[in-house]
Amino acid sequence: MEPTALKENFKAYQKKMRAYNHAMGVLQYDFETVMPKGGAEGMGETLGILSEESYKLSVSDELRAMIAELLAQKDALDFQTRREAEELLEDIEKIEKIPMEEYVAFEKLTNKASFVWHSAKPDNDYKSFEPFLAEIIEYQKRFAKYIKPELPAYDALLDGFERGMTQAMLDPYFKNVRESLVPLIHEIGRAKQPDMSFLERPYALNKQRAFSDYLMEVMCIDRSHCSIGEVEHPFTTEFNKHDVRITTHYHEDMMHDSMYSVIHEGGHALYELHTGDDLIGSVLAGGASMGIHESQSRFYENIIGRSEPFIEYIFPKMREIFPSELTAVTPHEFFLAVNKCTPSLIRTQADELTYSLHIMVRYELEKRLIGGSLSTKDLPEAWNAMYKEYLGITVPSDREGVLQDSHWSGGMFGYFPSYSVGSAYAAQMLSSMQKELDVWNLVSTGELAPIIAWLTERIYKHGMLLKPNELVQNACGAPFDPKYYTDYLTKKFRAIYSI
Ligand SMILES: [Zn+2]
Repeated sequence: MEPTALKENFKAYQKKMRAYNHAMGVLQYDFETVMPKGGAEGMGETLGILSEESYKLSVSDELRAMIAELLAQKDALDFQTRREAEELLEDIEKIEKIPMEEYVAFEKLTNKASFVWHSAKPDNDYKSFEPFLAEIIEYQKRFAKYIKPELPAYDALLDGFERGMTQAMLDPYFKNVRESLVPLIHEIGRAKQPDMSFLERPYALNKQRAFSDYLMEVMCIDRSHCSIGEVEHPFTTEFNKHDVRITTHYHEDMMHDSMYSVIHEGGHALYELHTGDDLIGSVLAGGASMGIHESQSRFYENIIGRSEPFIEYIFPKMREIFPSELTAVTPHEFFLAVNKCTPSLIRTQADELTYSLHIMVRYELEKRLIGGSLSTKDLPEAWNAMYKEYLGITVPSDREGVLQDSHWSGGMFGYFPSYSVGSAYAAQMLSSMQKELDVWNLVSTGELAPIIAWLTERIYKHGMLLKPNELVQNACGAPFDPKYYTDYLTKKFRAIYSI
């Protein structure tokens, strides 16, 4: 085919793929937010039909032929088209490497495992879940061999979630986390704790909604392209850069919970809203990886949102919205309260400082489970021992221990570390940003636009054109270095606790 026509066909084909994703995304969003319970069956059926069609599009002979023809003239291709072809080819190859019957059997297994996990957790019954977990791990080991036979099994799994992430990168990262943060957390445990009782006063939900609107305004989020919904477990979804949806959950007695969830999801939204225009309709639109996406949400949530300059800036407005609730509370007291560090059992409720230790425990255990040096039978014991050693807490039950997350029941091994490296990428980006911008001065005057512009240039606009390690290099002028993260946390928390 003539090169221009081929390229046009290829673009049109991607648009069609995106259209299916758009339709499924809207339905998923509807399912999570406003669908009446009784609609679940019909919705499931429609989603099933659409996802089958979408799957067919992603592995069709037509697409393969186009990719082959494009890559045959690779050197003459523009960068974007080449990356699109490579990305789609990689997806096809990944699907093809796993024998169909094994893939289907695995899907069935994880459906069953998820179902069992849903009752094992409240019943505190690890025994009923353990055989499923053991089988899932065997599948994961086999799949890793099929997909990347040249890599150690756990590296192949990590790469599936964060391209290029390996144990060689994560071992020194978590070693650094362990050696710098564990003693610090123990020291904080002996220090005087800030008062956070005023956060538990009742904050009317309609006032909290008005506060969310204000936070989105401060973050320069264009509301004509980003809405906010209410759900049980907050998330962000995007259909294209002109239609992004964030969500939150309001609790009367935990105002800060929704506040930081809006800032976190707002960080995800900014990334999507500022993807380059050239990527509209391309398979490369949207965030580069889970780790890079989390770097953006956590940059706003923790680095900016939990900083004293930010709290000082928004406090007058907070007092206006919550006059009685914040009576006799100073911005400094609020800042201390939202940075309180308490080692806890549950990952999703962890504070900024202890969060990565929760991930470290999961990383070490996954490595041993996949590597074969730990059996699923001994897993709870190993889990509890690590929580004792690193977080200094006793796990009272598997419900609050090894059964707390859904990830393993869904077969997602290698996913957890991307949560933590996101925070580490963010700290390194801050350091690099500070060489060019007076970050804290901008934050203290509520001028986030230059910060957003800096991130747009180096991260947002590239979508998936660049891979995670290339984006870090692009933003920081150097490869990933875990030191920035632990230095940032140490400095911040030593100051907060005056130790
Ligand atoms: Zn997130």
